[in-house]
Amino acid sequence: MNPLTYHRARSIDEAIGLTGVGAPSLLGGGTNLIDLMRKGVEHPSALIDVTALSSEIEATGDGGLRIGAAARNSALAAHPLVRSQYPMLARAVLAGASAQIRNMATVGGNLMQRTRCLYFQDAAGSRCNKRSPGTGCDAIGGFNRYHAVIGASPSCIATHPSDMCVALAALDALVHVAGPGGKRRIPLVDFHRLPDERADIETLLEPGEVISAVELPPSPFGTDSGYRKVRDRASYAFALVSVAAGLTMRGGVIEDVCIAFGGVAPKPWRALRAEAALRGGPAIGEAFDAAFQGEFSDAAPAAGNAFKIELAQRTMSAILTQLSGSAS
Ligand code: SF4
Repeated sequence: MNPLTYHRARSIDEAIGLTGVGAPSLLGGGTNLIDLMRKGVEHPSALIDVTALSSEIEATGDGGLRIGAAARNSALAAHPLVRSQYPMLARAVLAGASAQIRNMATVGGNLMQRTRCLYFQDAAGSRCNKRSPGTGCDAIGGFNRYHAVIGASPSCIATHPSDMCVALAALDALVHVAGPGGKRRIPLVDFHRLPDERADIETLLEPGEVISAVELPPSPFGTDSGYRKVRDRASYAFALVSVAAGLTMRGGVIEDVCIAFGGVAPKPWRALRAEAALRGGPAIGEAFDAAFQGEFSDAAPAAGNAFKIELAQRTMSAILTQLSGSAS
């Protein structure tokens, strides 16, 4: 391991100031970053520990929720307001990793975690445009069962690994960031980039910017929402496909719906086209399937993961069928 320095930031301004020195990485719970340093994928010259920044989870004046970036995943999933007003988020967090990892991992770190593509993590032996731009991608034509079926590019077909972010995308979360140029809010659905020709640039964060909080607006879905995750084994595995969804009914038709997919794209995939197709229509399997087909009309699976498209369709249909039954 390379020599490095360690600083524990006491304020957001201190953290921003420290990012200007050398090639630092921000350290939350370390559940992903430390692994990548051990594997030779990440080589920071300094670690800026941001776990002393805000971890508060508190109601906002408009009925929403503000989550400090240093909040632990386990605290988020257990919070009474999350469980009562945003149950899909609690379920998504609990579907991720192990209890020990959730106790360490932070909300800000979850947003910044990197793909679990095996070739990305194999710094010694594999070509990877995300790790070393311009070198190629061994997943294309290799073992790509876990990779993207939509939103990928010829440079990278990796998936985003987060469960939490799928629910945050469905809930219209806003990411609060602060940096040398001031503060701004970025919709979660825009925060992560698709790979195009620069697979190594994964978010809209500018140099020196630090995530301070995640804000959730009031949700119209409440308990009429859920999260389903399909994986190769029952626990401690990343999603083959996941779906976060909320649905309300009025007069026998779908009044409102939100849908986001995980495990299928390089970022949490908000299904806006499917949502638009479903609003005002019947909550029946044929309508769910037609909406899915429209959403995934641009899908381009690799050799080893075409099964994900039918799996995603069935998972979406199953959760919407469940929600429409309980909401009507
Ligand atoms: Fe690297 Fe992306 Fe290819 Fe995986 S899919 S090897 S992360 S470029």
